Amino acid sequence: MTKDSGDKGRYRDETLLSVLGRDPAANHGVVNPPVYHASTILHESAAALKEATKTYYGRYGTPTTFPLQDSIATLEKGYRTYLFGSGKAAIVAALLAFVKSGDHVLMTDSAYGPTRSLANGLLKRMGVETTFYDPCIGAGIADLMRANTSVVVGESPGSLTFEVQDFPALAAAAHERGAVLVVDNTWASPLFCQPLVLGADISIQAGTKYIVGHSDAMLGAVTTTEAHVEALRRIFEELGAAPGPDDCYLGLRGLRTLSVRLQRHQETGLALARWFRERPEVRQVLHPALEDDPGHALWKRDFSGASSLFGVVLEPVPEPAVDAFLDSLALFGLGYSWGGYESLALPTYPWKLRDATRWDPAYPLLRIYAGLEDPDDLIADLERGFERMAAARDA
Ligand SMILES: *Cc1c(COP(=O)(O)O)cnc(C)c1O
Repeated sequence: MTKDSGDKGRYRDETLLSVLGRDPAANHGVVNPPVYHASTILHESAAALKEATKTYYGRYGTPTTFPLQDSIATLEKGYRTYLFGSGKAAIVAALLAFVKSGDHVLMTDSAYGPTRSLANGLLKRMGVETTFYDPCIGAGIADLMRANTSVVVGESPGSLTFEVQDFPALAAAAHERGAVLVVDNTWASPLFCQPLVLGADISIQAGTKYIVGHSDAMLGAVTTTEAHVEALRRIFEELGAAPGPDDCYLGLRGLRTLSVRLQRHQETGLALARWFRERPEVRQVLHPALEDDPGHALWKRDFSGASSLFGVVLEPVPEPAVDAFLDSLALFGLGYSWGGYESLALPTYPWKLRDATRWDPAYPLLRIYAGLEDPDDLIADLERGFERMAAARDA
């Protein structure tokens, strides 16, 4: 007799995080799916070899990768998830699944930098042209659609500048012309936004960020609706960019605590955002959960929470003073990526990248990531940072 694992369709997300992907009966009673290091899978007979469909070679998935992909598919409310060795690999796969030479792509001007490089590099070399659009264009995207537009790429809130996009409006315009809407949902994680429910066809997660949650593994996930599963299955097999079993294990381990971490990240992120907003050194805080943020209404409509990555636009100040601020921080590490337990800060330069929107280089922009430290300690650290900035400016 096996213990009833309950009706998973009935559970809320927090409960799903605890029950998804577990199969103790198949693993000697062990609670968590173990790490299966596997390339070759042996079969009992020639007949079994020929009939094998699910587990037949390590690159196509193992009893370690299946629970993670199935869990993400459930949380994203999608039909199936394919896993990749990084978020970038997931983005490459999602785009290559739908474009061919001669096609046109519409990409948000606020796309993650390496997504933009993909458009300006590989896609361009393949003969695919990309037009970057204003992330706040909404239904107006219909005017940019061409007969050969096959993919609209969205990301909300956008990288570095945090504009919230109207996914239902983008989806309607894309579908009207036979294109697909592919979106990067990393900021919200599958807990705070489900783009497929809002009309997107594909939702991408850089699992490296909140899903892994500890800055120690790289993972990407592409979740599709049923209509596009064949295109995704094909590109997954063609690219062969499967993640390793240890990283999948860390992704599944990370999922178990995702909701409590996100809740804390959300609170601390908002506390820091509100604190920054009161500072005389700050011109604007780019955080969609702030009531006066231009994206607030859309965020409130489409998201169930805010993660802890946001932007801070400073009043004009020389670059060495900004560097002095960053150098003085003890709790905010200076480094790329985010989604771990530790806070990070980064100077960013959207004016060097964008072409559909304008960002004024006179106002330095910082990207702040709030980790799980005590918010008052973080604020004290930032306060010291502004003191050093003032000293460097006045020196
Ligand atoms: C980090 C990131 C990615 C890429 O993920 P990697 O695992 O670093 O390749 C994609 N999209 C967004 C929004 C990201 O922040």
